[in-house]
Amino acid sequence: MFDSLSSRLGATLDKLKKRGALSESDVNTAMREIRVALLEADVALPVVKEFVARVKEQAIGQDVVKSVTPGQMVVKIVHDALIDTLGTEETGLNLAATPPVPILMVGLQGSGKTTTSAKIARKLKNDQKKKVLLASLDVYRPAAQHQLQVLADQAEVDCLPIVKGQKPVAIAGRALEEARKGGYDVVILDTAGRLHIDQELMDEVAEVSALTEPAETLLVSDAMIGQDAVNTAREFNEKVGVTGIVLTRVDGDARGGAALSMRAVTGRPIKLLGTSEKLDGLEGFHADRIANRILG
Ligand code: GDP
Repeated sequence: MFDSLSSRLGATLDKLKKRGALSESDVNTAMREIRVALLEADVALPVVKEFVARVKEQAIGQDVVKSVTPGQMVVKIVHDALIDTLGTEETGLNLAATPPVPILMVGLQGSGKTTTSAKIARKLKNDQKKKVLLASLDVYRPAAQHQLQVLADQAEVDCLPIVKGQKPVAIAGRALEEARKGGYDVVILDTAGRLHIDQELMDEVAEVSALTEPAETLLVSDAMIGQDAVNTAREFNEKVGVTGIVLTRVDGDARGGAALSMRAVTGRPIKLLGTSEKLDGLEGFHADRIANRILG
């Protein structure tokens, strides 16, 4: 298993004689440990570099408080910087548009988009008494549309009836139309996944986005994504303008580095965390929880 950052830093830094303030060489020693800890937590390399440079600047010359060791002090500086990068703003879904409010779900195949779509629908219905329509635009993966229908039934929310042979953009148009006619508050559009960033599918999502003008475009990502998090987040953000991130499988043993990478690259808030396969496994984002996980 990994050593926690605190124990690593304790072992190296606390050997150093206590001085009044952290010297540059103390800080350099600490930064090496921090870099390794962040990489082990699967934070993407470019993000690690930038983060370490920022923390270093903050740490040099800081007075060492008598009651703590230099190791504890650097851990506190890193922890605070992690929280700052991960974001502490209010991260609820933005539904402040004229109903039906479209929410567009995007992400790689298998990231948890379909499950998360149903989870969000269920939550909006139960917590905010919203009338929600789910619609699958995934005409590529066999049974994808049916999968959403099954989950919608479990969540006890409506799902747009499947019309065989209809193209994704046409389905999106039909979903909006049905939502308008049916007096729905929110319509959640679950787009087709892709194994890798794929130009054709990306263009399709952009087209759906232009047609529906979503209030939220949520990038759904598996917490285990690791070093690829940066490319995925950047591509989706550039092509379709992400407004928020949902990190799934936070219940697994991933260290959560993807959260830091994606937030750093897009500047978009992490809005929700998927915490189980079940439909009630959806929680709000707490930077503190992810920061502690990254630190180990
Ligand atoms: P999609 O291809 O992006 O639509 O992904 P799916 O919604 O089909 O999810 C892929 C798999 O991940 C399914 O087996 C889901 O049950 C599972 N899954 C999704 N979210 C979570 C989560 O937060 N935790 C766990 N443990 N499993 C999840």
